Amino acid sequence: MLVYKFGGTSVGSVVNMNHVKEIINTPGKKIVVLSAMSGTTNNLVEISELLKAKQLSSATAQIQQLHLNYNTIVKDLIQVKALRLEVNTYINSVFSELVESVNQPYSVLLHNTILSKGELLSTFMFSALLQQEGLNVALLSALDFMRIDRTNEPDNFYIKQNLERLMNETAATDIYVTQGFICLDAEGDITNLQRGGSDYTATIIGAAIGADEVQIWTDIDGFHNNDPRYVNDTRALSNLSYDEAAELAYFGAKILHPQTVMPVRSVDIPLRLKNTMAPDAHGTLITNKTYGEGIKAIAAKDGITAIKIKSVRMLLAHGFLKRVFEIFERYETAIDMITTSEIAVSLTVDNTLHLTAITEELEQFATVEIDNYMSIVCLVGNHIIYHPDTPQLFQVLQDVNVRMIAYGGSNNNISLLVNTSDKLETLQKLQRYVFDDTAILA
Ligand code: ADP
Ligand code: ASP
Ligand code: MG
Repeated sequence: MLVYKFGGTSVGSVVNMNHVKEIINTPGKKIVVLSAMSGTTNNLVEISELLKAKQLSSATAQIQQLHLNYNTIVKDLIQVKALRLEVNTYINSVFSELVESVNQPYSVLLHNTILSKGELLSTFMFSALLQQEGLNVALLSALDFMRIDRTNEPDNFYIKQNLERLMNETAATDIYVTQGFICLDAEGDITNLQRGGSDYTATIIGAAIGADEVQIWTDIDGFHNNDPRYVNDTRALSNLSYDEAAELAYFGAKILHPQTVMPVRSVDIPLRLKNTMAPDAHGTLITNKTYGEGIKAIAAKDGITAIKIKSVRMLLAHGFLKRVFEIFERYETAIDMITTSEIAVSLTVDNTLHLTAITEELEQFATVEIDNYMSIVCLVGNHIIYHPDTPQLFQVLQDVNVRMIAYGGSNNNISLLVNTSDKLETLQKLQRYVFDDTAILA
């Protein structure tokens, strides 16, 4: 069985929903995971923020505007009268709930409930579109099987059991449609897998049902060798290994939610990235095989904080690093990059929730300097640290202010820490010198 996931742009208009319908209308059983229509989750976040700020009339106005947009889309999408009535009734009930939320006390649960509406709307509308075509479709609510545990990890046993039960109840179905992103927490409250989480939903489902392949359909022809939002002339990579893709996704390649690769890597299910707007393009196949040599792709992750911790004693005392790491562990704060010298250690974090408390504890035996607004630029490839082209990297970066370099932590990754204001220039320079054969080193 295949699992397909279509992102916001892929279901973002009537025309694109019809493209998706064509793509999945092939023989064989499949599960189709959908995001909210593009822009909707952002709208819902804005509504929730207005409610939090007690700007109730602005929130109501935004809800009404979004409701009108959905009414217009349904008119174009569904022509069969009875089906259109069904869809309109559903949409009206969703928007009534949103209007009711204006008068409710604000809470995290209210926020997550508001955010869940985008995927609920898109999947209901898309299922109706398939029914209109006479396809045999079942709409499964992700809230009936997708759950995370107390450590925010997918509750795989629960997911598998409940998903199989639901699928068996509608065994004659060819196409199961369900929501990405949304799930329940260990208490049974509505939550989500973080922004962009529909990719993760798809691979969690793929692993749960032992899918033959998980396909992530988006608005670009696969994983590119650099971030196309910041760099021109990037190109799609036809193959990546799980490790390479996981590293790039973790370090900011927006095409995949950071956790997406984990569920399929452990059970060796291929992950394919495809373009809904150009279905014939090869896309990227992600498997356990590694191809090629040298730097294959570059990604960048913003929102990084660098912390320099200097021992107050002149020499790096025995046990200093242990004390440092224990503090980060106690506050459940992951460290991304680390470099050390005789008397100091520099490291980076992206979660600053407990930074004040961590700093206070560190200051009992060290001096601490903090730099915000940093970005990690991550270069990934097979054995790149040994590749003869890699040294040119250091020449390229002679004009960029690099705060830290992690080289040799693994054979397949080099990470550079730069000011976020220098990120664009760093990515563009690297693109030119690493991937453009015609570029001449200065
Ligand atoms: P979807 O809504 O389908 O999940 P996303 O916007 O989350 O789509 O992801 C696709 C976008 O990711 C692309 O349009 C592109 O701008 C961005 N992106 C960032 N880095 C990369 C990369 N290395 N390769 C491809 N796309 C990337
Ligand atoms: N709709 C959610 C978001 O915008 C999840 C997703 O698109 O993957 O973040
Ligand atoms: Mg996405």
